[in-house]
Amino acid sequence: MLVDQRVLVFLGPPGSGKGTQSAKLSQVLQIPAISTGEILRHECQSGSELGRTVHAVMTSGGLVSDDLMNQVVAPRLEQRDCEVGCILDGYPRTVSQARFLRDFLERLGMPQPTVLDFAVSAKEIVTRLSRRRQCVECGKIFSLGAGRDALRCALDGSALIPRADDHPRAIRARLNLYNRNARQLRGYYRRQDYHRIDAAQSPDRVLHDVLIALGGAGRYPVQKIAPALRATAAY
Ligand code: AMP
Repeated sequence: MLVDQRVLVFLGPPGSGKGTQSAKLSQVLQIPAISTGEILRHECQSGSELGRTVHAVMTSGGLVSDDLMNQVVAPRLEQRDCEVGCILDGYPRTVSQARFLRDFLERLGMPQPTVLDFAVSAKEIVTRLSRRRQCVECGKIFSLGAGRDALRCALDGSALIPRADDHPRAIRARLNLYNRNARQLRGYYRRQDYHRIDAAQSPDRVLHDVLIALGGAGRYPVQKIAPALRATAAY
């Protein structure tokens, strides 16, 4: 095991900002961010067999089977860039996946995860998801602000569209399912290296709290997170 190798698990409902935070933290800590939702959306776009299998489940707001998800995540964790640790955004989502992850990390000789649980109210989530748009080309997520709605991607100028699973019925389905599984997952992780983060704050404030949680637990070398902590302290 490398000295500061860490596996970070991000829990949180859709729209809680896990994607935004994992991109920021990935830069700060120089570890890869792995989003299972992104991997699956990519498979759907490419028209692969996996993509065709999961497409209907994803657009309905349901969960892909544990076996399939474990088969997606395991080879990704074995890739070289994960030797320094990684961020898991959207996995595990069930206790069965969490148990698989525990056993798989043990087999790889990697540490058990540090869990960050991004908490935000259902009302705020519905507001955020209804404003969410995704670039059809690069997949980057944008949030439309009132009165200054951009319909083009700021990076490549491509069209922005709502995500296929961000319609009201799928949002409700995903939230209900999330809440049911999250209760069990919290129960599973609570006695481990678990941190609840108030995700209703601004993104920089949330990052600040994440860094405090990681550093405060003495888990990350201070010199690695101190500059980012100073940069976010102004917010
Ligand atoms: P996300 O981008 O994390 O909101 O994921 C989008 C969709 O992908 C979810 O609503 C699920 O259908 C599927 N998905 C992503 N990660 C998982 C997982 N760990 N287990 C089951 N389904 C998943």
